[in-house]
Amino acid sequence: MRIGVYPGTFDPITLGHLDIIRRGSALADKLVIGVTTNSAKSPMFDVEKRLEMVRRETADIDNVEVVSFNSLLMDFAVAHNASFVLRGLRAVADFEYEYQMAGMNQQLNDDVETVFLMADVSLQPIASRLVKEIARYGGPIDKFVPAEVARDVAAALAGEQS
Ligand code: ADP
Repeated sequence: MRIGVYPGTFDPITLGHLDIIRRGSALADKLVIGVTTNSAKSPMFDVEKRLEMVRRETADIDNVEVVSFNSLLMDFAVAHNASFVLRGLRAVADFEYEYQMAGMNQQLNDDVETVFLMADVSLQPIASRLVKEIARYGGPIDKFVPAEVARDVAAALAGEQS
């Protein structure tokens, strides 16, 4: 059984993430999405809400499981019997960080490969950080996130302001 893990903050999940999940899940028997509880990024959504959003948006994909994690990525991969870590690559800006992380993870555990996929060209510029920034200034985000996630972002912003 070929198992992959796809780690990320997913704050919130975007159409870019979902495209990587669809492509990645087609390459594996099972894809475990790991929502990191790492709070260093001071996320807009707590981990329970991020898990709920990722589960809801991937409910139609049979071989996807969604869990939270707070450990070394390689330990998380081994705990789930994964043979690969899935990461999405956007532009040159992602490359340096991903290159370094993949290189260090390879030294921590050479049995687990890092696999990079590219999202559909139209979805590549999407980043959770920019989605939140656009929404904070009242801009439309429905081209970048699923409709229900756009509502979740609006509700979170309304909560911040009250
Ligand atoms: P992290 O905090 O690990 O960067 P993110 O939720 O921002 O978590 O991203 C998780 C993964 O999804 C990363 O590999 C990131 O490069 C990838 N990713 C995010 N958005 C896109 C996109 N629009 N196209 C391709 N890959 C993406």
